[in-house]
Order: sequence, then C-alpha cells, then structure tokens
Amino acid sequence: MIVAHTEAEIPPKRDVERAFIPTMGALHEGHLSLVRAAREHASEVGVSIFVNPLQFGPTEDLSRYPRPLETDLALLAGLKVDWVFVPTVEQWLGRPTTSVSVGDLGTRWEGARRPGHFDGVATIVAKLFNTVKPDVAFFGLKDYQQCCVIQKIVTDLSFPIRLELLETIREEDGLAMSSRNAYLNADERAVAPHLYKSLVAVRHSLNAKSDPESACRIASDHLSSVGFNVDYIAVVDPDTLLPATEIKGNERIIAAAQLGDTWLIDNIGL
Ligand code: AMP
Repeated sequence: MIVAHTEAEIPPKRDVERAFIPTMGALHEGHLSLVRAAREHASEVGVSIFVNPLQFGPTEDLSRYPRPLETDLALLAGLKVDWVFVPTVEQWLGRPTTSVSVGDLGTRWEGARRPGHFDGVATIVAKLFNTVKPDVAFFGLKDYQQCCVIQKIVTDLSFPIRLELLETIREEDGLAMSSRNAYLNADERAVAPHLYKSLVAVRHSLNAKSDPESACRIASDHLSSVGFNVDYIAVVDPDTLLPATEIKGNERIIAAAQLGDTWLIDNIGL
C-alpha cells in the first residue's frame, strides 16, 4: 500500500476504475464498510485521511479530533487498499480563500448549527476530487446532509464522478458508528442509542399516519427526558431537506442532539 503525503506521490491514473473514499481517519467499521464495498467494486481503491480544518467551527473539536494514523494505515493495508493520501494542511491546503458553497442545502440543519461547515466540506471534497480524479467515490448515508451536498456539487460543477452512498453501520444497540462516539463517557454511551430509537419511533408513528410534527415533538421530548440537548428531529424531503408537509414515503428522518459535550447525528429513511 502506497502512503502518499503529497499529490505527486499518488499513483498516476491507469486504465482501470479508480474508487475513492475520503475520510478524516480514526477509522471504524462504518469507514471500513465503504472501503470493502469499493474493493469489491473497483480495480483500484484509494482512501484519503485528512482532518479538514475548513469544516470545523472556531469553538469545535479540531485539535482534540482523534488521529490514530498508524492504526488507520494498518487497517487499510489489511483491506488491500492500493494507496492512501495523507496530505498536510500546510503543504496541500495552505490558506485557500476560494470556497465552494451549495447555497440553502448547506445552511439548514447541520449547516445552521455549524455555520460554514458544509462550505468547508464542499471545498475540500471538490479539491480532493480534482487531486485524486476518481471514477467513483463512496460516502456514508450516516452523514445524510453531507451526501446531499456532495451530490449537489457533483451535479452543479459537472464532476465526472459516480457516487455510491452506502447504509449506516451501527453498533449492536443501534448507535450509529462515529469517530466522535469515543468522546462519550459510560453513562452517555448507555443513553446514546435512544437517538436511533427515536428515529425508529418517528417512522412507526408516520406509518401509523401520525403527522410529522407531532411525531417529532414526542420523540424530541423523549430525548430531552433521557438527557439529550436536542437541536432538531425532523422529517424532510430527501433532496431539498425542507420539512415534509405531507408524507410520500421517500422522506428522511434526521436528528442531531448533544450528550454532554458530544454532538451526535443520525438519520433513517421512511
Ligand atoms: P468521516 O471520517 O467522519 O469524515 O467519514 C468518512 C466517511 O465515512 C463519510 O462518507 C461518512 O459518511 C462515512 N461514515 C462515517 N460513519 C459511518 C457509519 N457509521 N456508517 C457508514 N458510513 C459512515
């Protein structure tokens, strides 16, 4: 496995399909499921590990974000990844003043709670796409709004890249795997699966013809009662992420809530 620290060290493109999985490292089964799917799918698999400073707000956890690089590289080598791009902020990113912005889609929900977050994501993903030139890129539906944002930049900016968006990998108790779960203490970890359970409860209520607003209000009250600070739980159109007023059956139920100092996000389809 080649470990490329600079753009020039990424192997030149060959006449085979190049699959790419961008990550921020601290790899878990969620990331590895994307790598395995890519490995099954394409002749060449590349991964990037880059903790993107542009997507962290000034009060967020950039400096404490976990960076177990050696472990990550060993996991990727075990999955027969061809190359890993591990750029430095100084050398690869510098101090860009150009920004990619997707408009409204990036300012709702996570974008409202984390102003500038999705511009940071879109800018880095566009830069990675230009650097790596993949034929197909794999992302996790765990970060549903991020998937919508990336779909939008691919469409709007005509990147010749196919996207594969894969299902969320969960712990046995339903908690979506996330690098940030490591921040939870034992009490918080015990409560954390309620986030997913609440999404499932909203889905049941909608299937029983409850209206989305009251189903989400009940779920939000439940989350508050077990100790979450809820930012949002909502039923949204799967493309625009605008709140759904009537249920067609393809909506997404999305949520973000804080436990102690840790923000958790999750979502499921109807
Ligand atoms: P991150 O390192 O958090 O930027 O995530 C890198 C990629 O892994 C993104 O496409 C995420 O959506 C995806 N991912 C993170 N957690 C999970 C999970 N639990 N299941 C599936 N994909 C995930």
